Amino acid sequence: MKMLIDQYNRAHDYLRISLTDNCNLRCFYCMPEEDYAFMPNQRLMQKDEIVQLATLFVQNGVKKIRLTGGEPLVRKDAAAIIEELGKLGVNLTMTTNATRIHLFINELKEAGINSLNISLDSLQKEKFQLLTRRDQFNQVRNNIDLLLSHGFKLKINVVVVKGMNEHEILDFIAWTKDTPIQIRFIEFMPFDGNKWNSDKLVTFHEMLEIIGKEYTIAPARNEPNDTSKQFSIANHAGSFAVISTMSAPFCNTCNRIRLTADGKIKNCLFSSEETDLLTALRSGENILPLIEDSIFKKHKELGGQFSNDFEKINAELLHNRSMIAIGG
Ligand code: SAM
Ligand code: SF4
Repeated sequence: MKMLIDQYNRAHDYLRISLTDNCNLRCFYCMPEEDYAFMPNQRLMQKDEIVQLATLFVQNGVKKIRLTGGEPLVRKDAAAIIEELGKLGVNLTMTTNATRIHLFINELKEAGINSLNISLDSLQKEKFQLLTRRDQFNQVRNNIDLLLSHGFKLKINVVVVKGMNEHEILDFIAWTKDTPIQIRFIEFMPFDGNKWNSDKLVTFHEMLEIIGKEYTIAPARNEPNDTSKQFSIANHAGSFAVISTMSAPFCNTCNRIRLTADGKIKNCLFSSEETDLLTALRSGENILPLIEDSIFKKHKELGGQFSNDFEKINAELLHNRSMIAIGG
């Protein structure tokens, strides 16, 4: 079986495809506050181009595809893309803000999607509105219950930002008492235009301290390429995990490739280099060597831009896109 291997011998079998940089929410840590111009349609990969590129990745060892964005479900042909990708025989999944997911339940099931990552940073309606700049809390919360009633396995992504929502960590844990969900607390990461600084970071250790004071927790088994550190909570139906990108990165087992909505490979979330597959595809070039070369050159950690000494990071000096334009 062919594999996409980098210079550090990491095999890449997990592709994250951004369907759009557009979104119906405006999460402050993701989308720059100043006027953000969404990509014009002709710059986006079209449905057939997405399927063609995804097929090539699958032929070269990709076993899992995650659709993301922006918000993947604001794209008009999202259902048709999901249907086509469902035929590739890979583990297909999605990260979504869940505002529109009630419109896609059947399409997801038909494409074989049975687990989803849902983003929800607050359990309080007003705080949700402050964080996302939109009044969609009830819709999201209802849709999570709807998905659970349909038997979907859910992970809830919570970006923890100091002074914003760290006081809700225990409320999220309480939610797992009777609900079989996994809460994934994500350390706040620096991207273009999100005004990151290390004072806003709540670290993995700080989170464990907060949770450990109230609950009996124990490390749970991680899968080989997990980005999150998993924990069980005594007598809870659900569990939690922490994505410790900033304070304890997990680059040595990374198997991820990102394809932006405009068809560029980012071999790391923090890479400043990109490889333009879409232009090459449209001009009939052989694109496999471009993919192989991009993966091979992947940096050892964090796009070669910083280290886990996060207090020293000057976010202004990092070269990257905003998260909404990358595809998380
Ligand atoms: N719109 C979808 C959603 O919100 O789930 C998918 C795209 S979103 C960019 C993917 C994930 O990235 C979300 O869970 C979001 O919380 C996370 N994310 C965005 N900006 C981030 C940041 N600065 N630090 C950490 N996680 C971030
Ligand atoms: Fe939209 Fe997701 Fe970014 Fe929020 S995190 S602005 S929902 S893409």
